[in-house]
Amino acid sequence: MSRQPVIDGLEFARTGSKLQGVWPVADFPRLRDALHADAGSLRYEIEGVPEEQGRPTLRLRVDGALQLVCQRCLGALELPLRIDVSLQLAATQAEIDAEPLAAEGPERIVAGREMPVHDLIEDELLLAIPIAPRHERCGGREAVAARATNSPFAGLRGLIGSTKH
Ligand SMILES: [Zn+2]
Repeated sequence: MSRQPVIDGLEFARTGSKLQGVWPVADFPRLRDALHADAGSLRYEIEGVPEEQGRPTLRLRVDGALQLVCQRCLGALELPLRIDVSLQLAATQAEIDAEPLAAEGPERIVAGREMPVHDLIEDELLLAIPIAPRHERCGGREAVAARATNSPFAGLRGLIGSTKH
């Protein structure tokens, strides 16, 4: 794998920095079990926001598509991706734990001096993949589970975040 870009989270937000690029799907090993094929690549953009809702924030966007495995017919199922999330930065985990989890609020993460952009993207990709993706009609030509990119799984975000540490 190519050398990972890392960002100093708080500094990146404070200065309103921006980083964008393209990442091959094959470079995200944690997705592999869910994929029918790891061809293609994803475009990403990460932008620092000095203050969003009063906090330094990283705005992450990912565009592209993943070839998932339909859990009914085991065929390929294309999942279009339009990820656009705000990751609110906290100085410490204690700071995050001290506040009640807001169901609709942005995801909160601990800022680091060397945050691997690859891992931030991979975390969001995992959240975007439905637990049991299926064609609406197997065997048909249409292959979209577009709903999966939206909110039904957003609620899981907090749960996953709270078990990470
Ligand atoms: Zn199917």
